[in-house]
Amino acid sequence: MTYPFELGPIRPVDEADSLLIRTTRNCPWNKCGFCVNYRDKKFSIRSTAEIKKDIESAADYFNGHRFSRCFLQDGDSLVVKTKDLLKILHHLKKYFPTLEIISSYGRSQSIIRKSPQELKEICDAGLNLLYCGMESGSDSVLNLINKGVNASQVVRAGNLAKQANMRLSEFIILGLGGTEYWQAHATATAEALNAINPDKIRVLTIGIKDGSDLQEKWKKGKFFLPTEENIIEEQRLLIENLNGITSHYANHHSVDLLMELRGQFPEDKPKLLSILDTFLNLNEHDKLNFILGRRLGIYRRIKDLENSSLYLLADRKLQDIGSSKRADLEQIFHSLRAQVV
Ligand code: SF4
Repeated sequence: MTYPFELGPIRPVDEADSLLIRTTRNCPWNKCGFCVNYRDKKFSIRSTAEIKKDIESAADYFNGHRFSRCFLQDGDSLVVKTKDLLKILHHLKKYFPTLEIISSYGRSQSIIRKSPQELKEICDAGLNLLYCGMESGSDSVLNLINKGVNASQVVRAGNLAKQANMRLSEFIILGLGGTEYWQAHATATAEALNAINPDKIRVLTIGIKDGSDLQEKWKKGKFFLPTEENIIEEQRLLIENLNGITSHYANHHSVDLLMELRGQFPEDKPKLLSILDTFLNLNEHDKLNFILGRRLGIYRRIKDLENSSLYLLADRKLQDIGSSKRADLEQIFHSLRAQVV
């Protein structure tokens, strides 16, 4: 479908029904080791006049549709100068007065470059939700993936956004520290999240993309991918160390093994740990059966193991692989994961 205004390629899962307005093209950093979203694409900030024209064209096109949400594309709208961003937000509110939530990806680097006063003005003008790719709270992991920020900057950025009254959704990538840093990844990420208390914690599981720097490291033996079970152990350690927060926590992408893992802190922490323990306490065969079944879309949740026809189907698929070597199976699990991220 073609629209009379420019659209970028990506939006968060939660913004499926939102109005999309493109303020920047691609990503101003474009160097994270796991990411190929904007690889080889040049970053630019669109002119305010161009964006305002797009807002007007979108208003014409949608002809009075009462959007309640708008997402500003692409990788980081906070790199736009504050005075321009305020003009864009005022224009957006003028043409779409029913908007309640305006959101954007916000990198920590850009957030900490704005003053608390600027962030407050931006929030008051309508940009009241930031999606922040923390990925990890461990300096070793942030360094490994070339995130361009350290843990204390990530925490400062998160706190600045919250102090400005913005809602904040932090993304974490499980398995990102490999087998070397998995414990530091879990505990330091929990520490950073405890220090921020974001509104939402959204968890993704690593799937290494073709052409990424992380894939190069992996091929060269400089990064060792954890097994599915290790990643669940890592997540257990992360949740165990989340304390004093009131965030909503969720595995919400099909790349995550345990999609039922979602709940409100602090009250749902025991429930989350018990779901992880249910998986970890399975016998070895059932673990493999479940992982393959989930990766092939046979199962949706761990309870589906009780369905004997689904169980037999997953078992047949396991036999079809023709190998019981754990390393071979882990390769298959990973390649199935990598297809959905
Ligand atoms: S993860 Fe985000 S900040 Fe990093 S390169 Fe990709 S789009 Fe840019």
